[in-house]
Amino acid sequence: MIKIFKTEQDFIHFHLTNSSTIGFVPTMGNLHDGHLSLITKSKQDNEVTVLSIFVNPTQFSASEDLLNYPRTLEEDIQKASAIFKESDNKTLIIFIPENEKVIYPDNFSDYVTVNGISKVSEGAIRPTHFDGVATVVKRLFKIVQPNKAYFGKKDFQQLVIIEKLVLDYNLGVEIIGMPIIREKTGLAMSSRNSYLSAEQKEAALYLCQTLNEISKIIKESTIEEANKLIAEKVKDKRFNYLEIRDPKNFEIVEQDLSSVVILGNLQIGKTRLLDNLEVNK
Ligand code: AMP
Repeated sequence: MIKIFKTEQDFIHFHLTNSSTIGFVPTMGNLHDGHLSLITKSKQDNEVTVLSIFVNPTQFSASEDLLNYPRTLEEDIQKASAIFKESDNKTLIIFIPENEKVIYPDNFSDYVTVNGISKVSEGAIRPTHFDGVATVVKRLFKIVQPNKAYFGKKDFQQLVIIEKLVLDYNLGVEIIGMPIIREKTGLAMSSRNSYLSAEQKEAALYLCQTLNEISKIIKESTIEEANKLIAEKVKDKRFNYLEIRDPKNFEIVEQDLSSVVILGNLQIGKTRLLDNLEVNK
């Protein structure tokens, strides 16, 4: 069964009679196979899946691409619906807020900052981005009341921040981190890839190639050697950052290479591309 909800009231009615487990997949739309993998997993795990499609203004800074962000609502509804067959006996609720006030009512004041983690790496180049992400996710959790919520490791830092948000506010939602879905070339799928020309897509592969190079050094050698390679790589000013961090607390790794994540952001034209690679030694 497929339903479209547009208001908080729709959920208030729904929660009155629903006793099934709810899996939640928050997105900004322009769905690709990365998003669809989260929806598919939620469908496996839960009776009800809520997919939200909302281009959240608070996570964009004034100079970013809020107005131009790709919006493909009809295709999105089709792609998500195609995962749910009548015989599955599972429900998909597509939550498309009818306007911004559904999420941010007049006099809304519950803005959230997850201190520390939000201000490094991606947060260092986008200082208000994760405040907007944490704020919208907290608000969406209040509306949707999910048992589980599914996030892609494509946005690894975001995942760690959401896990911290859930602990800070005791939100009682189980957070599931899902693997990065890539194109055959290795390029991590992203809605922002649609901004790239064929040539730029080719150039973008340098990001995942670099992550793989660093991963090899980590596996075969020392942190000093890995950092030496990073120091060489970041001479290329297209790298907005390139770092090795602890996947749990997001601290910079000093010594212990047993479990790390390499994170990078590469500037291709006007587009900042994000990718990461987890390494276990
Ligand atoms: P977005 O619409 O970009 O806000 O992304 C919505 C969710 O999809 C987030 O949890 C992302 O991490 C996840 N996601 C985006 N791209 C990918 C990908 N290539 N593989 C897996 N998950 C992804």
